[in-house]
Amino acid sequence: MTATLTDLLQLARSLHDDLDLTQVSKWKAAKPGRKAVGHMPIYVPRELIHAAGMLPVGVVGGGDRLEIIRGDAYFQSYICRIPRSTIELALSGRLDVLDGMLFPSICDVIRNLSGMWRMLFPDRYVHYVDVPQNFDPAVGGQFWRRELETMRDDFARLSGHPVDDEDLRASIAVYNDNRAALRDLYRERSRRPWVFPLSEVYLLLRAGNVLPPEEHTQMLRAYLRQAPLDSSRREQDQSRVVLVGMFCEQPPHGLVVTLERAGCSAVDDDLLLGLRWLTRDVAVDGDPLSNLVDAYLTASASTASRYSPDGDRARWLLDSVKRNSAEGVVFCAPSFCDPALLDQPMLVAALDRAGIPHTEFKYAEDTGQFAVIREQAGTFSDSIRLWSTP
Ligand code: SF4
Repeated sequence: MTATLTDLLQLARSLHDDLDLTQVSKWKAAKPGRKAVGHMPIYVPRELIHAAGMLPVGVVGGGDRLEIIRGDAYFQSYICRIPRSTIELALSGRLDVLDGMLFPSICDVIRNLSGMWRMLFPDRYVHYVDVPQNFDPAVGGQFWRRELETMRDDFARLSGHPVDDEDLRASIAVYNDNRAALRDLYRERSRRPWVFPLSEVYLLLRAGNVLPPEEHTQMLRAYLRQAPLDSSRREQDQSRVVLVGMFCEQPPHGLVVTLERAGCSAVDDDLLLGLRWLTRDVAVDGDPLSNLVDAYLTASASTASRYSPDGDRARWLLDSVKRNSAEGVVFCAPSFCDPALLDQPMLVAALDRAGIPHTEFKYAEDTGQFAVIREQAGTFSDSIRLWSTP
């Protein structure tokens, strides 16, 4: 693992910019016969892919560095951007390194994308991951267990490596380490956001899409050790905000930098939420599939694409504001993102009732002009600092 903070961030940046997935190609080439399985946001049980000896690869579209030529032909103009750029990546051969693709049931757009994949790439493994929206162990739990069993058997066939319980327990432990490092990063970032700025944290998160989890954990731990040693990082007069809406299509890095420059210090966010979907360790002892099911039913993150059995759609956001001593909320969702934008009015109403300031804007992964967002976020941050009651 890299020695200096600069090296670490440069590596994370290069992984973020690498649309050709060269890191994945290198991983496969290091041991002939290795396979990689891509997955769309938000959550898939990466432990199962890992236990089969394959590399899980998060696919989040093409960002702001990809010209869409053919992808637009597959979707209407009033659809978010991530499916069209993902199709573009695939049609241009950049995803050929992936031996299979998983499409979690987040929204209709991803469902349609999985169907297109089957038609476009009939020879590749494709699976639509139907995550449960019922959290009763006897109903949603049984359903999810069957889904996990199906994937475990599929991955064993794809990799040629049977997945036994010991393999799966070992992979659960690896991902527990990764989730613990991410929890530590988020906790430390909330304490001292000037030491762990969002523009860096975001790059570190993105590295988790392509690095093996063991290496990603090392990278996170190294960053946690090294960032506080940089004496140029000083506390700044910025507003502490929670960012909401970015769980699927990712914002361009420039937008994240713009928010910082506008005076917003992120103390919590839902970027790449799938990496942190399970909010606690998964039990390692006992039946590993049951443990994965139990973790999904009892410790899934709350977000717009997940059903809330208690009907309280905003509690997680109010909790985050309180836990992180945030002064406001910035809703930044992708344009045309049904799950994020349908929930937003309920979240806004709850914030209004609680007297928590908020602002909102929309982005696309290729948004290139940030002036308007900077003005809006800057005014929001200034208004918090000038007029919020301490
Ligand atoms: S950005 Fe929103 S609407 Fe688009 S695929 Fe993702 S969850 Fe679905």
